[in-house]
Amino acid sequence: MSAYCGKYAEELIKNAAYIGTPGKGILAADESTGTIGKRLASINVENVESNRRALRELLFTTPGAFECLSGVILFEETLYQNTAGGKPFVKILSEGGVLPGIKVDKGTVELAGTDGETTTQGLDDLGKRCAKYYEAGARFAKWRAVLKIGPTEPSQLAISENANGLARYAIICQENGLVPIVEPEILVDGSHGIDICAAVTEKVLAAVYKALSDHHVLLEGTLLKPNMVTPGSEAQKVAPEVVAQYTVRALQRTVPAAVPAIVFLSGGQSEEEATLNLNAMNQLEGKKPWSLTFSFGRALQQSTLKAWAGKEENLDKAQAAFLSRCKANSAATLGTYKGDAAMGEAVSESLHVKDYKY
Ligand code: 13P
Repeated sequence: MSAYCGKYAEELIKNAAYIGTPGKGILAADESTGTIGKRLASINVENVESNRRALRELLFTTPGAFECLSGVILFEETLYQNTAGGKPFVKILSEGGVLPGIKVDKGTVELAGTDGETTTQGLDDLGKRCAKYYEAGARFAKWRAVLKIGPTEPSQLAISENANGLARYAIICQENGLVPIVEPEILVDGSHGIDICAAVTEKVLAAVYKALSDHHVLLEGTLLKPNMVTPGSEAQKVAPEVVAQYTVRALQRTVPAAVPAIVFLSGGQSEEEATLNLNAMNQLEGKKPWSLTFSFGRALQQSTLKAWAGKEENLDKAQAAFLSRCKANSAATLGTYKGDAAMGEAVSESLHVKDYKY
């Protein structure tokens, strides 16, 4: 049997390619109710539906932002939510040429017998949920698998289990018309050097692509969302050019040319750091058969959140901060970012949280 060639094949290929359009990327605004609560708490805003909506409305109605975005990942609540004025968010995105996406995993649980390694839940009713989300306007999905680097981690069990879970998720999405974002995130936590991160990233990605092949996933209708290859959070940092060389080499060795785009997560890097690293990758000479773009959560929202602080009178300032990061990352996908969005403290602040849950 070959790759998925069912009724959605052409649409999947078209939508995956569209999301990878150079100059555009993804805003990850799919924080679960618990996670968004932590963000809101950091600016002393209560975690209630009206405040969650206000934040998402601020982001989705920023004039000019959609020129830099091809997709937005939503949490289920937001997929069915309206602006304060009553217009569905999905409609705002679609009219702006931005594909709505949906987080479909149900978080992680510990794998017995390991030192805190995890597997991701949510496969049981996934087909039904995907069909329902497609009906509501979603055209792509996200599933986050988490691996960690330690003395004996990631274990072979964690690698196989997460690769298989991602592959099963991916084919279920495709059978229901959603482009799967395949996200095997290797956490930055630790004091390891960049070589270790590179070796682990290659091993994990090789296992993931073997599993996707075994499960007959149509690679042209998928996107990869990996970590960048960097030293651990407790090790000395390296220059963006070094991150770029190591990251692109790991991807060249493991990601098939059939994959249209690689959409990086920011993983606790500061806003500016994530942008500079992405820019350096796009400046790097060499074989890059996929587009290299962003699917940032924290690195697209931090300075906006701070500027907003939950106050109506700060809306313009907050939208200006968001537009500035959108434009910077759009330029980074073309390798033309000049560092001109590096204003204020918030853009350089580390966003690393140990053992981060989405
Ligand atoms: P960060 O960019 O905040 O790491 O998250 C993106 C994301 O969607 C992780 O699943």
